[in-house]
Amino acid sequence: MSNDLFGGLGGLMKNFAAFMPQDDPNTKIFQLQTSINDLEKQEKEIYVQMAKKAYPSLSQQPEYSELVEELTLTQKRLDAARTELQKIQDEKAAQEQLEQENLLKRTCPNCDTVNPEGVKFCQECGSKLGGSSNLRCSHCGLDYPVGTRFCGECGNPLS
Ligand SMILES: [Zn+2]
Ligand SMILES: [Zn+2]
Repeated sequence: MSNDLFGGLGGLMKNFAAFMPQDDPNTKIFQLQTSINDLEKQEKEIYVQMAKKAYPSLSQQPEYSELVEELTLTQKRLDAARTELQKIQDEKAAQEQLEQENLLKRTCPNCDTVNPEGVKFCQECGSKLGGSSNLRCSHCGLDYPVGTRFCGECGNPLS
């Protein structure tokens, strides 16, 4: 297998590497590239931690003023982006809740048929949509589950 075969294949190489003998140069190259990437990431993270610790005193020094300005601007943009994200997520959630409620309104409490928008009675079984899922006796005000035909208290037909 030539090196060219792996050029640009990136992630796929990991799978190949598992099947290649340990002394294969391609395996070694891949393993070393992986550890170099990991170590570079760690190095960067350590620098970041150092910079954060040193920031309060460094930010007072004139030679850092440009970077401080840049950082402040970046943090402002970050704040704005986070606020915007929150707003859009809230709007999305509200929209989804509205759709959920709308769906619930159109779903028949009796037979679970989802009816078209604006329909007042289930097109499948004629039950009333959008109201409470209970039937109320007009005579004594007791509630009964949908499907109950007569009030158990007074014998009134429920509709
Ligand atoms: Zn129905
Ligand atoms: Zn009744």
